[in-house]
Amino acid sequence: MIRLADPFTTVTVSEIGQQQAGNLTKAVHGKMGMRSSQPHHELITPLAQTATYTFADTADLRAFMESKMWGTDPSMAERGEYGRYGNPTVRSVERRLAALENGDDALLFPTGMAAITNVLLSMLSAGNHVIFTDDCYRKTRQFCQNFLGRLGIESTQVAMGDYEGLEAAIQTNTRLIISESPTNPYLRVVDLDRLVHIARKHRVKTIIDATFATPINQRPLDFGIDLVIHSATKYLSGHNDIMAGAVIGESGLIHALRQSQGMLGGVLDPHAAYLLERGIKTLGLRIGQQNRSSQAVANYLESHPKIQRVWYPGLLSHPDHKVSKQQMDGFGGVVSFEIGLVPGEDPLSSTSRFIDAMTIPYIAPSLGGVESLIEQPALMSYYEFSTQERLAIGIADNLVRFAIGIEDTSDILADLNQALAQV
Ligand SMILES: *Cc1c(COP(=O)(O)O)cnc(C)c1O
Repeated sequence: MIRLADPFTTVTVSEIGQQQAGNLTKAVHGKMGMRSSQPHHELITPLAQTATYTFADTADLRAFMESKMWGTDPSMAERGEYGRYGNPTVRSVERRLAALENGDDALLFPTGMAAITNVLLSMLSAGNHVIFTDDCYRKTRQFCQNFLGRLGIESTQVAMGDYEGLEAAIQTNTRLIISESPTNPYLRVVDLDRLVHIARKHRVKTIIDATFATPINQRPLDFGIDLVIHSATKYLSGHNDIMAGAVIGESGLIHALRQSQGMLGGVLDPHAAYLLERGIKTLGLRIGQQNRSSQAVANYLESHPKIQRVWYPGLLSHPDHKVSKQQMDGFGGVVSFEIGLVPGEDPLSSTSRFIDAMTIPYIAPSLGGVESLIEQPALMSYYEFSTQERLAIGIADNLVRFAIGIEDTSDILADLNQALAQV
């Protein structure tokens, strides 16, 4: 038995060379996990910065059209026609993501929200019903409740972790269940086996927004989930410099989504795809460091007298610790916590004082990049609400979301230590 540095990974000698490529290798090399050659021997996938593709002559065009209609020539399937129908740089990243998630195929979008809205618009019709879990990305909830509602598509919000409630919410017209895992900001983790069991019993398709996990920490398709969605703006690209979204799943579903993407028009720019591929190559290393730092931060905060409560799936105190340990290879890079109340000061101000005292993390929305980011959700996503309205949806004024970057763990801990001393 060879024990690797990562405590989650052990490999027996007999397995070496026989097992499927690991995700660190797949992140670097793509599907086969081995070096591959490009037409011009360049190491890097070329950036095909083009809006359209040419045909040698009308016979070439005819051959392409015939193959498109009848699927006769598989080599033609990958040929470019027009930018909205595909791009080789984008395609390369899609294959890499499919390999990482153990899916047949993947489809990229210009943002995570474009991925979510395209999937829901493509898979639902008027009269259908969709179930989503609470503690989800706010725009996803708003899209389900308001936008889909206008199109005659019903939705029901179910509390995260309430599987009886989830099953009871399924109606004869329910088509989809969509949930995040882990969720934002409380890092709740869906029991994927249980979700799939319920959904299959009622012939409902399941979608997991796995942005917070990445395929390094969790691969929902292995559990029977139908589609995995990512905001690739976050960990997958990893450098806070591009926006992108991804959907991964079985080839028939992805093919249908690709058809509707060609109509709805939300395609990823090739240059963003080029940067995304570059980012994905270091995904495994970045996530490893973010997992380690976050666990250390969560442990530190949980024992700190000025911290009221910490949410991190790697903590025994987290409601989903057990299921996270069973189905994930790491607990992720986000830690949420509440600053203890300071007598005579309102929690909004004392928490802001703590955030302002931190020196390493930038104050910004988003997560998943190399730079640590910190935010007070009450002042960011939920600013227009009153304290009472925020509390009703579970967002306290003293809540902090810390998205940990790849800085030295010891520097992050020291920064927290000095900032908490000022609270
Ligand atoms: C950021 C985020 C989204 C939206 O992605 P964009 O790339 O910003 O459009 C969706 N879901 C989760 C969990 C996110 O964190």
